[in-house]
Amino acid sequence: MDISNLKRALFQELGDDVVSDDSALLNSHDGDWSEAPRHAPELLLQPRCPAQVATALAILNRLCQPVVIQGGLTGLAGGATPQQGEVAMSLSRLNRIEAFDALGGTVTVQAGVTLEQVQEHVEGQGWIFPLDLGARGSCQLGGNAATNAGGNRVLRYGTMRERVLGLEVVLPDGTLLPMLGSVRKDTTGIDLKHLFIGAEGTIGVITRLVLALAPKPKATQTALCACSSFEASARLLVLLKRALPGLSAFELMWEGFVAAAVEMLGMPWPFATRSSVYVLIEVHGQDDVTDRTILETSLAEALEADLVDDVIVAQSIADASRLWTYREAVGELLGRLKPFAAFDLGVPLPQMESLVATLRETLGRTYPGMRHLFFGHLGDGNLHVLSGPCASDEQRQRIERTVYEATAKADGRISAEHGIGVLKLDSLSLSRSAPELELMRRIKNVVDPHAILNRGRVLE
Ligand SMILES: Cc1cc2nc3c(=O)[nH]c(=O)nc-3n(C[C@H](O)[C@H](O)[C@H](O)COP(=O)(O)OP(=O)(O)OC[C@H]3O[C@@H](n4cnc5c(N)ncnc54)[C@H](O)[C@@H]3O)c2cc1C
Repeated sequence: MDISNLKRALFQELGDDVVSDDSALLNSHDGDWSEAPRHAPELLLQPRCPAQVATALAILNRLCQPVVIQGGLTGLAGGATPQQGEVAMSLSRLNRIEAFDALGGTVTVQAGVTLEQVQEHVEGQGWIFPLDLGARGSCQLGGNAATNAGGNRVLRYGTMRERVLGLEVVLPDGTLLPMLGSVRKDTTGIDLKHLFIGAEGTIGVITRLVLALAPKPKATQTALCACSSFEASARLLVLLKRALPGLSAFELMWEGFVAAAVEMLGMPWPFATRSSVYVLIEVHGQDDVTDRTILETSLAEALEADLVDDVIVAQSIADASRLWTYREAVGELLGRLKPFAAFDLGVPLPQMESLVATLRETLGRTYPGMRHLFFGHLGDGNLHVLSGPCASDEQRQRIERTVYEATAKADGRISAEHGIGVLKLDSLSLSRSAPELELMRRIKNVVDPHAILNRGRVLE
């Protein structure tokens, strides 16, 4: 593609407010949080409205120019990282919260609004947007929908897919597809919005979303438990699910993860003695006294039954946020263990303990100089593994192969929330059947025949 033709067409239609070839700006858009090889894009497009997204895509499609879609660039699969010769389109300027419906409990936002912005906006008005993850300050709602993000509270509130009531999408040829309904029940043919949720920007650019809120809980309880074994923690989960329907987080951290947070980040050890796993518990409820009594009674029962070795129940908001810092240490650990291999596996609960044992033994023996940390959203069967620092790209790829093959043997999925991007492309067939992959390819070919949008992500 002759880049000067492309530049001319884009500058002519959209102007230098939207199109930039400034090298400092291009360099700041050269990749996401993953270890995928970085490239500065040829040009950066920063549309201010959905109509400009449509105009830009129509031009790119006409000229068969590949474009990578960028949200907050916090992705861990390399999906938003430009490849050689690509133009990048950032949604950051579509950053308006457009409407808030206090009766229906919905909010309409542009795709570039950050997760934290929407959380803060609705919280003062008696509602919460319950999706939550460590990258909340930078990740965007368009990116969250494109990756079907999960995070800390899926157990109670579901993934992004369950929170999206309506979407507006621009197709690769520039067609604007309005699907901005806000009703929860809709049986009017194929629910097309679901094709775009989790598709990682391969068939359309999300420009606006209608999101379902949840009533703001009147009380939140937080506790950190030390458990003697994985099995004890899994039994604790069942006990708490039965006692506390408001259980909103059950975050497991194996001892090595907490040890890394303590050593590398200088945090204090949370308990006087060590245990094999730690669980961060959060309960969203309606009555502080009742919820606390049920939680404390349940934890006393768990102590009695030897499911729990020790427990700290937060007595204040400051206490609760101190307990969360252990789990949220992952952001800093990612930085310390660079270059890393990061995994977000979906694993059936009965297989999780043996998968962790296998991986810990294999990775520890083969790569003794590296850290291999295990943690996850146990309530959702979502296991995270973080290995680093890797000595080379080849070593990272070998580790990925080992982890994905072991996961497939355990009947698991190679991605539970970060997506496939470019990093898991070669392993997708371990999780999806040949007919499923073929149907995905056919859909991609129909919607994006020139393969301009996020080419080489998810599918070859
Ligand atoms: C510290 C840390 C903690 C994290 N914790 C979690 C977690 O608990 N759960 C979880 O699910 N993820 C987690 N992530 C991963 C990441 O934050 C999520 O995947 C997030 O949803 C990505 O949003 P983003 O706006 O940054 O997207 P980007 O990284 O910019 O893009 C991700 C993908 O979506 C596509 N995309 C972005 N915007 C659009 C759009 N508007 N239309 C179409 N396609 C688009 C991109 O092309 C790319 O393929 C974490 C990341 C970090 C760094």
